[in-house]
Amino acid sequence: MFGGPPMDRLRPLGGRKHVVVVGAGIIGASIAFQLSRRSIPVTVLDDGEPGYGASSHSFAWINATGKSPDYYHYFNRRSMDMWARFARELDADIGLTWGGYLQWESTQDGADRLRAQLAELHFWGYPCRFINEREIQDLEPGIVTGPVLAAAINDVEGHVDTQKIVDACLLRASEAGAIVRTNSGATGFKMTQNANGETVVEGVETEMGEIPCDTVVLAAGVATTALAAMVGVDLPQQYSPGVVVRTDPQPPLLQKVSVLYAPQIEPGHSEIHLRQMANGVVQIGEGSQESLNRDDSQGHANDLLDRATKYLPALSGAKVSPVPVGFRPMPRDGFPAIGFCGSAPNVYMALMHSGVTLAPLAAELATMEIVDGIRVDALLPFRPDRFSSKGS
Ligand SMILES: Cc1cc2nc3c(=O)[nH]c(=O)nc-3n(C[C@H](O)[C@H](O)[C@H](O)COP(=O)(O)OP(=O)(O)OC[C@H]3O[C@@H](n4cnc5c(N)ncnc54)[C@H](O)[C@@H]3O)c2cc1C
Repeated sequence: MFGGPPMDRLRPLGGRKHVVVVGAGIIGASIAFQLSRRSIPVTVLDDGEPGYGASSHSFAWINATGKSPDYYHYFNRRSMDMWARFARELDADIGLTWGGYLQWESTQDGADRLRAQLAELHFWGYPCRFINEREIQDLEPGIVTGPVLAAAINDVEGHVDTQKIVDACLLRASEAGAIVRTNSGATGFKMTQNANGETVVEGVETEMGEIPCDTVVLAAGVATTALAAMVGVDLPQQYSPGVVVRTDPQPPLLQKVSVLYAPQIEPGHSEIHLRQMANGVVQIGEGSQESLNRDDSQGHANDLLDRATKYLPALSGAKVSPVPVGFRPMPRDGFPAIGFCGSAPNVYMALMHSGVTLAPLAAELATMEIVDGIRVDALLPFRPDRFSSKGS
């Protein structure tokens, strides 16, 4: 129903065959790390510096709130639950911070939406609950909420430092023998016909020459669509710019909760979300996790900080820097695109939004599919072939 190559085209990679991972953001780096744990020889290519793509612009919230329908929620949740193990496997400081998520609403519409969202999350067994204004104050005395018509909290969400994860994954992969080439992107692919008459990639072309490969992973974020087209795969994306600004390091602002989602200050403004990283820097974004925003001016950064300061007065001395607009890797229907494709049987696609939440699971499942030649049912709704008329 959802496409993907038929089982008879899936073969274990086995042996010590060579995988080229194109893209060293959180997804490519995590996959390279997992492949190298299975002793697969890996070359990682990035046309810039590792982690400087969407991963460096991310709000990096590990969450399953706001992820519908049910199978997508469970997919995110499964990855959330893997983060502690992923951190242990990496054995490095990755800025992993738990504490949960607090949201409150000050308008009737907002309160109705929040109640409907909680009803759905409760139906799926997600451990979130309503709380009142007094409980918010007891939990987080530094917050000035304004009117509260509905509020909800969960204890299970958190955030990470994406650059630390990318660096840790590549370090561990390198220690296991992986080659990491920066400022050296894939410029094309050398195609050939294999013994089964299939068109496969036998080499990844770069400005420094061709790298022979048995399997290619395309994890190049927004650039994945253009690279996929080079191997005959249609992988359309939405245009999804976003802006998350950063303050200078601040003393701890929150006692327990790790991510705040606060209502609009006045009509015409959107909601804001914020988190404080382990190094004290506060990240502030607006709207939902998918909201489109291209304003990376200092004025907009100041406005976001002003709005955040109304809710967290301790931010009043903070300085904020604009961060250039980031572009979410976003398949056209908003869901991940993970797996081999019928028309390019040795090219594995790994393109997704919420790639921070999903990195541990996506990397583990991709590695199983690539190395063991198996097909994971949990990935069926997310096969890249769903976009392709050539999909099988
Ligand atoms: C504003 C914003 C907020 C977000 N908030 C969240 C959030 O709260 N929670 C969450 O889970 N997700 C969030 N996301 C999404 C998440 O950040 C992304 O899904 C994730 O970072 C994608 O990682 P990636 O490795 O696929 O892509 P990227 O980080 O973009 O990495 C792709 C890499 O490929 C390289 N590349 C490109 N072309 C080539 C080439 N030809 N050859 C070699 N290398 C190439 C690039 O240089 C880049 O380093 C957010 C994203 C944005 C932009």
